[in-house]
Amino acid sequence: MSVAVRFAPSPTGLLHVGNVRLALVNWLFARKAGGNFLLRLDDTDEERSKPEYAEGIERDLIWLGLTWDRFARESDRYGRYDEVAAALKASGRLYPCYETPEELNLKRASLVSQGRPPIYDRAALRLGDADRARLESEGRTPHWRFKLEHTPVEWTDLVRGPVHFEGSALSDPVLIREDGRPLYTLTSVVDDADLAITHVIRGEDHVANTAVQIQIFQAVGGAVPVFAHLPLLTDATGQGLSKRLGSLSVASLREEEGIEPMALASLLAKLGTSDAIEPRLTLDELVAEFDIAKVSRATPKFDPEELLRLNARILHLLPFERVAGELAALGLDDADAAFWEAVRPNLSRVAEARDWWAVTHAPVAPVADDPAFLAEAAALLPEEPWDLSTWGTWTGAVKARTGRKGKDLFLPLRRALTGRDHGPELKNLLPLIGRTRAQKRLAGETA
Ligand code: GLU
Repeated sequence: MSVAVRFAPSPTGLLHVGNVRLALVNWLFARKAGGNFLLRLDDTDEERSKPEYAEGIERDLIWLGLTWDRFARESDRYGRYDEVAAALKASGRLYPCYETPEELNLKRASLVSQGRPPIYDRAALRLGDADRARLESEGRTPHWRFKLEHTPVEWTDLVRGPVHFEGSALSDPVLIREDGRPLYTLTSVVDDADLAITHVIRGEDHVANTAVQIQIFQAVGGAVPVFAHLPLLTDATGQGLSKRLGSLSVASLREEEGIEPMALASLLAKLGTSDAIEPRLTLDELVAEFDIAKVSRATPKFDPEELLRLNARILHLLPFERVAGELAALGLDDADAAFWEAVRPNLSRVAEARDWWAVTHAPVAPVADDPAFLAEAAALLPEEPWDLSTWGTWTGAVKARTGRKGKDLFLPLRRALTGRDHGPELKNLLPLIGRTRAQKRLAGETA
């Protein structure tokens, strides 16, 4: 049996860290097993699904490197859902119901006030042909519910272990709306069965759906997949991450926060597992380390600060080739490996390289508050060509001439050469600044 998994977002909003973690876990599971990964767009909610969200999902997955082997869109498959619904109606597993939303609310409220679970009472099953004809002549159109078997439903969840539900404790789910449109609970099962999905890995908000969907798999004659339900990410205070939390969207982490794809992947692959979170530069390393058995049942907390710290650690390791495109997009087309290696230890985000580019390649107003010392130092500047040994040679000579050492020696030079108190090692920056600029800055000129 070859492993097949799917990531099935609804294109009704931007992907956020919680959704994309599930995409990543599915992808890692597929790659680890040598199986395939399906991207399925659950777009049957036509009012809320938007093409721009579908495009955004694809862009985010590609950015992370989570490419898919197969693609499906539920809105292409209405004919198939109609066919399955017709068969379920014929076998009596789908039955027509005529209650209005108001009537259903009243029923629920009454059950809850009696301290009973709000399970649908199956009143529609007691209607005769004449009742249905009367309701339809009054202009009511039915929605359709799936008749659950009142038997136990059990599965061994790859994260939760053995799970048990009583069919009688669940409400018969509505599978077809009044307007004839099929709902997710049905469409997802039909797709998983038709596309031979072997493992359904999703959030624990779907546990009760799984109990119902196992019975639907059985009713439509599909093989029941293995299930894994992951605890959902929360923020630092334990609150759930809503889809509408724009700041935690993948698009905003990429475009506004300057997060690298491997920083996000390194964090999300390990969050809520028994593995330590470490920077990884390739998805292959994460595949090698992945095992769904490492996912814990405890609620994982997503901390944006932790992501930013990991982003910095990733940048400190990334070779120039991996960021050349990003640097060019910042307008630093001439940046090279020497520049990148000089500045990367000081970056949390690639965009901060612009500041150091300005220091090495644009006029800087120096801080030159010890002109006599700086003049002595300038007189000792070696001739070019300069390389990584120039700083040591030069400051050695300045030290010998002036007797200064440590901070008294280095800080005035740094302030004059960069206009700042802190920054990348001057050994690396000096050759990038060059002799002409260095000389002027030591003389207090903006250069
Ligand atoms: N479209 C569903 C969701 O986003 C998919 C759930 C599932 O994986 O079955 O919640």
